[in-house]
Amino acid sequence: MAPRLSSRRDAVLREMGLGPVWRLRARAVEAGEAEPGAEADVVQPAVASPPPRPPLALVDARPAHAPRAETAQPVHAVAVRVFQQAQRAPAAPTTPPPPQPQARATQQIPTHADPAREARIAALDWDALEADIRSCAACVLCERRKQAVPGVGDRRARWMLVGEGPGAEEDQRGEPFVGQAGRLLDNMLAAIGLARGEDVYIANAVKCRPPHNRTPERDELAACRPYLERQIALVQPRLLVALGRPAAQALLDREVAIAAARGKRLERGGIPVVVTYHPAYLLRNPQDKAKAWEDLCFARRLMADADR
Ligand code: URA
Repeated sequence: MAPRLSSRRDAVLREMGLGPVWRLRARAVEAGEAEPGAEADVVQPAVASPPPRPPLALVDARPAHAPRAETAQPVHAVAVRVFQQAQRAPAAPTTPPPPQPQARATQQIPTHADPAREARIAALDWDALEADIRSCAACVLCERRKQAVPGVGDRRARWMLVGEGPGAEEDQRGEPFVGQAGRLLDNMLAAIGLARGEDVYIANAVKCRPPHNRTPERDELAACRPYLERQIALVQPRLLVALGRPAAQALLDREVAIAAARGKRLERGGIPVVVTYHPAYLLRNPQDKAKAWEDLCFARRLMADADR
């Protein structure tokens, strides 16, 4: 029994990226550059001053008696328990977690005021949409891209994941999440029984790589928003997962703090939205992987509810 359990446990840990292969590497992907999303939890000062909207209704969808995520499935429970034990182990050198961002007043993201462009994009089919994205020059991000990165996966997926923006490898290959953070994302998906391209569509909030993988500016998010909206309208997912703060902002049209938004059933146009950490952030802050795991389990429960 014991060896079987341990090999199963090891397999799950590997899948979740909790094994040595996925341990934090301090260095950035490129010299001096973090992958996009690595700073996903840093709340930046708000710019501009659009009229404030009432705050989002943040509803904690977990009933008080709901089972904890880690008790949902035994095999996953093992992963979480072992991971948590590993965290407690004195031998493991850990970087102190950065201060958690606090909930902040929500502020509407400015819209990119070009109704004609928005209407045109809203009518595009998949091929036309991807062609439009590839030739887009609506913001400065087009100037230094190798290529735009529209999205990848099952175009009729129930799960739609949204990241921040392409990094160097994505810019090179034209596919989202193919770098180190993408490998962690694939492992996270595998841990909840999903795979890239199978009932999963992956897109980014901005389709062109921000220089030096900086966080996309608000006007860049706004310029790219019609593309994301059209992708959502075409895929018609049952659930949206926002990976990191810019993605959450793009999906919710608000400034969002990850710590405040996690574990809540948010909504965009009637579609549930779950907010979690960006994989690049998790690579730099592996102590938060267990929270990301809880978020994915929460998302899986919402999906199960949606299936009923
Ligand atoms: N980070 C993202 O947010 N998106 C990618 O496609 C790659 C890294």
